[in-house]
Amino acid sequence: MFIDIHTHHPHQEGIFSIQNRLKDFDNCNSLYQYSVGLHPWFIDEHQWKDIFGKMKLAGNKNNIIAVGECGLDRLCDISFKIQQDVFIQHILWANEIAKPIIIHCVKAFDEVFRLLTDFQCNVPVIFHGFNNKKEIAERLIKKGYFISFGKALFNPSLENVFNSIPIENIFLETDDSDADIKSVYTQAGRIKNIPLDQLSLQIKKNFKKVFNSTSF
Ligand SMILES: [Zn+2]
Repeated sequence: MFIDIHTHHPHQEGIFSIQNRLKDFDNCNSLYQYSVGLHPWFIDEHQWKDIFGKMKLAGNKNNIIAVGECGLDRLCDISFKIQQDVFIQHILWANEIAKPIIIHCVKAFDEVFRLLTDFQCNVPVIFHGFNNKKEIAERLIKKGYFISFGKALFNPSLENVFNSIPIENIFLETDDSDADIKSVYTQAGRIKNIPLDQLSLQIKKNFKKVFNSTSF
């Protein structure tokens, strides 16, 4: 059983995936797991509070198991101030409903760290789609955060970074890419030089820890 911790694709037979929803919060299939959040790229600067309210109502369901993806992105056109306001609300809400938070962060690690600290985020934190330097990965690990990797693992420059991260802090994902989760697992196992079943077992352990889950 592969766990896809963050995807925008529909659920697939035989794969435990957390499908991300940034709208249509009421349309979640009760058989599957979801995360809900306002992605920084798509924040409606005028109506986000209303949308957030609707999301909160939907988010109490048991099969919505994480908050996000949410976070900060310096490369998008949405006002950085509004992005921060929206992200703060996600942190507070995740604390309130005690569900892990999945973070999108582009060129804003200092601000994301600061907000997680200032607003006392006390749920597990997963930085998704990691494609950055070893130093940043080390900062994340030191804080006890989790890091999820996807298609970028096929980029040779990320191999060293991936290798340096304890396997207890890792998740794998497809996000919106065309890579399937099995190929991401295979690549991850190759880089870490561990068999697929061992990798798969460890990711299940990580999942149980973060989601307080008895699913596996
Ligand atoms: Zn995503």
